[in-house]
Amino acid sequence: MTPLLALADALERVLASVRPTQAITEMGLIDALGAVLAEDILATVPVPGDDNSAMDGYALRSAEADTGLRVVQRIPAGSTEAVELTPGTAARIFTGAAIPPGADAVVMQENCSVLDDVLTVSGPVEPAQNVRPRGQDIAAGSTVLKRGRVLRPQDMGLLASVGCARVPVYTPLKVAVLSTGDELVEPGDSKLRRGQLYNSNRYTLAGLVRSLGMTCIDGGIVPDDPEATAQALAEAAETADCVITSGGVSVGEEDHVKAQVERLGQLDLWKLAIKPGKPLAFGRIGNTPFIGLPGNPSSVFVTFCLVARPFLRRMQGVTEPDGVRLQALAGFAVNKPGGRQDYLRVSLESTPAGLRAHRFDNQSSGVLSSVSYSDALAVVPPGTTIAEGDVIDILLLDLLT
Ligand code: AMP
Ligand code: MG
Repeated sequence: MTPLLALADALERVLASVRPTQAITEMGLIDALGAVLAEDILATVPVPGDDNSAMDGYALRSAEADTGLRVVQRIPAGSTEAVELTPGTAARIFTGAAIPPGADAVVMQENCSVLDDVLTVSGPVEPAQNVRPRGQDIAAGSTVLKRGRVLRPQDMGLLASVGCARVPVYTPLKVAVLSTGDELVEPGDSKLRRGQLYNSNRYTLAGLVRSLGMTCIDGGIVPDDPEATAQALAEAAETADCVITSGGVSVGEEDHVKAQVERLGQLDLWKLAIKPGKPLAFGRIGNTPFIGLPGNPSSVFVTFCLVARPFLRRMQGVTEPDGVRLQALAGFAVNKPGGRQDYLRVSLESTPAGLRAHRFDNQSSGVLSSVSYSDALAVVPPGTTIAEGDVIDILLLDLLT
């Protein structure tokens, strides 16, 4: 029997083979959510561009604050007309407006009174008080975001703040998804007959691929037949940057993926020491990378997140690490130590003692409800027992999908 392969070893092999894409596209910033920056972005301007007011109030010279000051200007946000503040004067100013030359502080309006255009200030005034200095967010010439960054909403805003309207990103990878199995029927097509089931992996995988910002090429259902399998694989490899299949990688008579990939390219078949998700194939069809996921719906999800996702991210040019682990308190016990690393599907509850992880009752690899129920995967290393209340490692699904 083939020995089990630890996930870390499988990942090392998978990642070692990645050739990151070199294809670059320019994209409108508004469309760039989830895309991967292909170049460092430098700031051509400082943010903010001017010293500006953090308050509605009065701009003045702090050294003159305890004298009566004549209010001679009104500077709303966006005003470009402000003139130098001469000694003995102050300016009415509003949040975000540029501080006029000569002024060095802003007093909030609640601490000011104005009578006949003469300002009296209560309380002490420090230099630079309520002034947001030019460049406090971003200095001109500094690197705003680095190549390899997956753009998040706040990153899009940050790039806009330095005047960036278009961004160079790596062209999103095209990932072909094929679902193997004679038992599969497309939802919407027809009523199920005995022995059939609806193809759920196609949808899970399409969602997972898209959540990576990549394009999913839907290869549909591939029957359990050597020729059909070979043809579907070859076609997918022609059009896509990576081919992913579900099912058909066990070594039963009806599992044709292994033999056909071997015919068209090269393949390693592993028994991963994880649960769910034991069988996993990795190789290439021609020069197109190939990942063969198991068929069981929960296994598909877990192996995609743990193996295919890091592979695809690396191939897409992402430089940031993945798979941040958090900790939670076990809301369950594991009494029998397992031989494989378990990824239990758990939901999370905030409690005064911290996050508490609740295990879905049925952890069978065929039970997709367990994944739909869960907020995280709880990592239980091989040979480990867990008592209720123990601190355990979790992988948040929000960080994986
Ligand atoms: P296999 O590895 O092909 O033997 O598949 C293992 C199990 O996963 C079988 O019970 C299949 O019916 C199930 N399965 C395979 N592909 C899918 C799919 N696309 N959607 C739902 N279940 C599937
Ligand atoms: Mg099958």
